[in-house]
Amino acid sequence: MKILVLNCGSSSIKYKLIDMKSGESMATGTMEKIGLKGSVLKHTRRDGQLVLFEGEILEHQVGIEYILGVLTSDKHGSIKDLEEIDAIGHRVVHGGESFNSSVLITKEVIDKMEECIDLAPLHNPPNLKGIYAMQDLLPNVPQVGVFDTAFHQTMPDFAYMYAIPYSLYKKYGIRRYGFHGTSHRYVSKRVCEFLNVEFEKQKIITCHLGNGGSITAIKNGESIDTSMGFTPLEGLVMGTRAGDLDIGAVTYIMEKENIGTASANTLFNKHSGLLGISGISSDNRDLAKAATVDNNERAALALKMFQYHIKKYIGSYIAALGGLDILVFTGGIGENSDFQREAICSDMEYLGISIDAGKNNGCYGIERVISTDSSKAKVVIVPTDEEFMIAKDTLSIVQKLIK
Ligand code: ADP
Repeated sequence: MKILVLNCGSSSIKYKLIDMKSGESMATGTMEKIGLKGSVLKHTRRDGQLVLFEGEILEHQVGIEYILGVLTSDKHGSIKDLEEIDAIGHRVVHGGESFNSSVLITKEVIDKMEECIDLAPLHNPPNLKGIYAMQDLLPNVPQVGVFDTAFHQTMPDFAYMYAIPYSLYKKYGIRRYGFHGTSHRYVSKRVCEFLNVEFEKQKIITCHLGNGGSITAIKNGESIDTSMGFTPLEGLVMGTRAGDLDIGAVTYIMEKENIGTASANTLFNKHSGLLGISGISSDNRDLAKAATVDNNERAALALKMFQYHIKKYIGSYIAALGGLDILVFTGGIGENSDFQREAICSDMEYLGISIDAGKNNGCYGIERVISTDSSKAKVVIVPTDEEFMIAKDTLSIVQKLIK
């Protein structure tokens, strides 16, 4: 069975065609700058060769048609005919309280997704555009929606509620939803396969650290708390996002700087975090170089803040879980940055976390246990694979249809 995974963002489309029988990636790519000048498609063929296409792509449907054309082309394609695609799995950012697992896309599901637009006005509309485009282009192929929020729907009310008037929860659905759910679910399950332990019996903390970052506490197979909240802005210090911040500071800044909600959103989402503190870059590698080679103090401060916040979350989630069996690192930083993992885990022995420098140093993007043999909790690097998780969900839903 061949499954096409689509992740449609506001100006980009990421895709991966997977042969589920062999698990092989048949093609993968990203189309960027949709609706802007100089759209570009970076397509990696089955043989691993990267091909670039440049042109003007004005909207998602045209972009998807273009991608399908490349996937079936004689020169760069992986399939002869579109009929070889058995199902499509879509990444959908926000499922609100309506979706606690992946679903077959039907008219009713789309109606509910439309209702969630208010909660994710930047993300859900392009996700829906991808769904509409595929319904148009391949009307007979089943489509499945996989939600970033779904895994966190198991959080108890006392963890997901904010202490604001209850009426605001009822009226607008203001609560913690959490994001990166597909990644947290994938790495937490994968680490249990890797360690050969039962997922349903573990206390796990997963740290997804990329440009965006979040931490999740998983008890007996269920997410019980996560650092992102009503929006993906809450929680850790991220590349350009502020993370946790006193609401009083927000209103104060808005008043003093005389800015409205749109500018405040941009300030806290795009000009804060590592970039805001360092004034140099949102990128972990740039900051590491600036801090060590150039002795840049603000870069060093940004990195320290990043590590300190993660440490605090790990401590609080050990309290929430009542212990810890496994700590997982994933995402661009979690998978590749040994100095970050070392700093985050330093002086945590009393919480059962002790990493082995020999195993940690120089470990990039591979599955590996990096804790010492005597560490109470296993510390493990697990490269995330959200596309594979989406394809797996899609497969299991579509297989039920056939039965
Ligand atoms: P996104 O959230 O956009 O998917 P990624 O998961 O790709 O982001 O993570 C991007 C971050 O990972 C950047 O800060 C980058 O510097 C960091 N990163 C990627 N590779 C390495 C590496 N080899 N060493 C250190 N940091 C890395």
